[in-house]
Amino acid sequence: MSTLLEVNNLKTYFFRKKQPIPAVDGVDFHINKGETVALVGESGSGKSITSLSIMGLVQGSGGKIMDGSIKLEGRDLASFTENEYCKIRGNDVSMIFQEPMTSLNPVLTIGEQITEVLEYHKKMNKKEASKKAVELLELVGFSRAEQVMKEYPHRLSGGQRQRIGIARALTLNPELIIADEPVSALDVSIQAQVINLMEELQEEFNLTYLFISHDLSVVRHISDRVGVMYLGKMMELTEKHELYGNPLHPYTQALLSSVPVTRKKDAVKRERIILKGELPSPANPPKGCVFHTRCPMAKPICKEQIPAFEEAAPGHYVACHLYA
Ligand code: SF4
Repeated sequence: MSTLLEVNNLKTYFFRKKQPIPAVDGVDFHINKGETVALVGESGSGKSITSLSIMGLVQGSGGKIMDGSIKLEGRDLASFTENEYCKIRGNDVSMIFQEPMTSLNPVLTIGEQITEVLEYHKKMNKKEASKKAVELLELVGFSRAEQVMKEYPHRLSGGQRQRIGIARALTLNPELIIADEPVSALDVSIQAQVINLMEELQEEFNLTYLFISHDLSVVRHISDRVGVMYLGKMMELTEKHELYGNPLHPYTQALLSSVPVTRKKDAVKRERIILKGELPSPANPPKGCVFHTRCPMAKPICKEQIPAFEEAAPGHYVACHLYA
């Protein structure tokens, strides 16, 4: 499989009263074509800021990429101007948001919101754009697509709106789709429908997903590889069966111990690890390993030295002094 996206040493900071606050601090990972890589972690871990950095959307909210590269098929997005980003957003990389109601325009019909993209980017006339929009709505499972074209977002259910969000993300045939908590605002039964739809579309169009979530059960289902983030850093990254079966980093072990199990024998094997203390402030991260203030296995060196993010086993990367 060839590499589609390569993120190296990404550092994205926000500025509060001119003080730099690291939201993403030296993150490395890559995504192969046709693969799904998931990023998991608590709120404030930097997973969403990583995705917004790739989309070139941090600048508008007071953020700045301070260092590193984001190579999409060799082009370094981190050095792109806003004009250059406008050409690749939607065309090469697009996004599915957590709550589609906030990304859909409430005063435009669904049809207008899809056709305007096609008319602007693909230079289609109104008739061609409408035909293509109906096809897209059918693709994401609407049997009455022509009727849905005339609806306003508030007239649709959460699951229907998220299917519109997926149709919009597919409008310009991007290779990479970033899905930021795409099902966390939906009922559990609807979550399964949306996840199944994403998988079917991936198979049909060989799509590549970066899937952001805090739901470890959903991530286990949809991903090929999983990266675990904490306080702006990548703690562990490996293939999903390896991560769920053999988690190396103490933070990953604690996260996985909180996932409910359905089989009695798993419950017997599983020891719940409860982390003490709060997530430290990114404005004042701990020295050394950023996890040492909550780590049940911390050693004296952990307070002094930042652990390197290294390959502990083939394809299994971890940032922890226990494996140095
Ligand atoms: Fe825990 Fe030390 Fe490993 Fe950090 S480096 S996760 S503090 S053992």
